[in-house]
Amino acid sequence: MAGMDDCIFCKIAAGVIPAKKIFEDDEMLAFHDIDPQAPVHFLVIPKRHIKNIMECEKEDGALLGKLMLKAQEIARKLGCDETGARFVINCKSDGGQTVDHLHIHTLGGRKLEWPPG
Ligand code: AMP
Ligand code: ZN
Repeated sequence: MAGMDDCIFCKIAAGVIPAKKIFEDDEMLAFHDIDPQAPVHFLVIPKRHIKNIMECEKEDGALLGKLMLKAQEIARKLGCDETGARFVINCKSDGGQTVDHLHIHTLGGRKLEWPPG
């Protein structure tokens, strides 16, 4: 199973490589994206290595709920309450996932296009 040795987000969660952290508790971490695509662009990840949303099971429901609500709470704090934001989970190749550790993107602070290209 992939873990700290070969997963960049596990390394961030373990504090082995740095990130601009926004929030952390025992089961999750939020940090600013290193290559922001909007004025607000941060990621919320579980500390446990879960590859992607397809791997999630019923028992992960509570964790997923917490991750979503944390993304919402941070989006509010970063000024997206009135104007909104986009909460995105990319999955595998068609979804454009490049880091194989589950993460929720939150993008805000500008008008985003839809549909995606
Ligand atoms: P995805 O394409 O959905 O897998 O998104 C991966 C995201 O992780 C991209 O937006 C990257 O810019 C971001 N990313 C990759 N490495 C780092 C890092 N070391 N710190 C913060 N964000 C990162
Ligand atoms: Zn990982």
